[in-house]
Amino acid sequence: MPPKKKHSKARTRRNQAHTGRSVPSYTLCKECGDPVLSHRTCTSCGYYQGRVVISKDTAEASSASEISS
Ligand SMILES: [Zn+2]
Repeated sequence: MPPKKKHSKARTRRNQAHTGRSVPSYTLCKECGDPVLSHRTCTSCGYYQGRVVISKDTAEASSASEISS
């Protein structure tokens, strides 16, 4: 059975507004306990999988640039 009436653009877009939405999954950093996105380096201490990936000053610089931008 075909649709009786065409949906308005607003109705379609209102419906589509909910698609593709998800809460980003995060874990807590093992080193500092800060919330960290999974498969990402911790921005506050620079640890990933139990070892330092980025040094402290580099991590601070990157996080500072994230805040300013
Ligand atoms: Zn950390």
